[in-house]
Amino acid sequence: MIAVSACLLGINCTYEGKNNATKKAIDLFKKGKAVPICPEQLGGLTTPRSPAEIIGDKVITKDGEDVTAQYEKGAKEGLKIAILAGCEKAILKSCSPSCGSEIIHDGSFSEKLVNGDGIFAKLLKENGIEVVTEEE
Ligand code: SF4
Repeated sequence: MIAVSACLLGINCTYEGKNNATKKAIDLFKKGKAVPICPEQLGGLTTPRSPAEIIGDKVITKDGEDVTAQYEKGAKEGLKIAILAGCEKAILKSCSPSCGSEIIHDGSFSEKLVNGDGIFAKLLKENGIEVVTEEE
């Protein structure tokens, strides 16, 4: 089984209440090989919600609210689902402060990118789950 960012499967869970539907991810789900996970919703955040970026060791919304605790809770809940489903691999949405792998926004809300992992992607990797993005 493969853990997949729920927005890649067409679920309207992004901060704007939209999705990032990707045909290859949907095909995997239809074959019974994908488990949809949205760590930001699992952390108790609303949809839609204010966009957030990682700044140092915190996750801060564009309005200045510290949502680190919600991001960490959502990542832990998402990890539980991935382990329950026996996932050894994950396909996650690129650049997200939760799901991004290797590259994320730089915390300036200016579309600039830096090297780094989102909170969920990082936790999956720490627990031995391979993470790739939909772009890979
Ligand atoms: Fe998609 Fe992940 Fe953001 Fe949820 S947290 S909307 S699954 S990128």
